Amino acid sequence: MSESLRVDDLPLRDDLRGRSPYGAPQLDVPVALNTNENPYPPSQRLSEALGRAVADVAAGLNRYPDRDATRLRSDLAGYLGHGLDASRVWAANGSNEVLQQLLQAFGGPGRLAMGFDPSYSMHPVITRVSNTEWVSVPRADDFTLRPEDAVAAITRHQPDIVFLTSPNNPTGTALALETIDEIARAAPGMVVVDEAYAEFRREGAPSALSLLPHHPRLVVTRTMSKAFAMAGARIGYLAAHPAVIDALQLVRLPYHLSAVTQVVAATAVEFTDELLSAVKQLRDERDALVDWLRRHGFTVADSDANFVLFGEFDDRGAVFQHLLDQGILVREVGPPQWLRVTVGTPAEMSTFRQTLLDVTGTARGAAD
Ligand SMILES: *Cc1c(COP(=O)(O)O)cnc(C)c1O
Repeated sequence: MSESLRVDDLPLRDDLRGRSPYGAPQLDVPVALNTNENPYPPSQRLSEALGRAVADVAAGLNRYPDRDATRLRSDLAGYLGHGLDASRVWAANGSNEVLQQLLQAFGGPGRLAMGFDPSYSMHPVITRVSNTEWVSVPRADDFTLRPEDAVAAITRHQPDIVFLTSPNNPTGTALALETIDEIARAAPGMVVVDEAYAEFRREGAPSALSLLPHHPRLVVTRTMSKAFAMAGARIGYLAAHPAVIDALQLVRLPYHLSAVTQVVAATAVEFTDELLSAVKQLRDERDALVDWLRRHGFTVADSDANFVLFGEFDDRGAVFQHLLDQGILVREVGPPQWLRVTVGTPAEMSTFRQTLLDVTGTARGAAD
């Protein structure tokens, strides 16, 4: 009977057989520190402005939205600066859709994408789903990327797309501008710098936006999911040469970005100052967490993001579970002895610190 039909019984693409869907746990816990969300909800002022803006477009929802999201792209270009304008900015439903469109335009059967691990798990997933081959190159032990290693791998494999994540997820590591520049010089195809965490970087850490004028095949992706506290609204964007935007328009679905999404995003951009002052608090909280973890004997990767990768645990699964038993959800990701924790509110972080001390005492005691 049809109830016993399983996915493998369907005439599914062979390359999708045996795959599992993306599945960061969505558990209802008191302290959710697992998906790098911003812990601060929109202020009342912002949520009221969002409500008014959505009410305005609601009256016109019988019509398709602006297919090219021109106002939003222009607002995002203004936010990014660097002399960008709407012709050099593109937006979609989360930066994951932006990445998917890049793969649709520049990847595909017979093509190859490369990344430097540990890094964002969605890069290989989106790559493979677009029927593009994936090559993973290891980072150094301290999670940095030596330009000569990257250039050697690029020279050897000649990838059509290179993914760089800076600041990197899950390690927090930012890349030097010189490294990105050398990679962009060596790469025969597109170079995508995923800057989902750009706003959280420490003083002095660069953005690849300043390299755009020198490299027409360089793409910098951003998101409103993290710094702008809009993960639920699904807005991602990129900056690149206008020819790259032309390429993306070949693959995007018509009217891919709803009128509601466009106006929500544009309204959030109007609140940039307010949103970035919360980012400043999170950066301070992040730096304090890194210090605290080091003082308590943990190994911690330098972080330019809104999360911290720390360890090293003989049995990270046990630590993860003990924290979860106390209502704190972190992420088992990255190298096997490490855990990643998202920076939350001061109250959440104080609960996390206290519980971690209780728990690692237990976990280490049990392991010894
Ligand atoms: C969270 C994250 C994103 C964001 O994806 P959205 O689809 O914009 O929510 C993109 N890249 C990296 C590396 C991330 O960690």
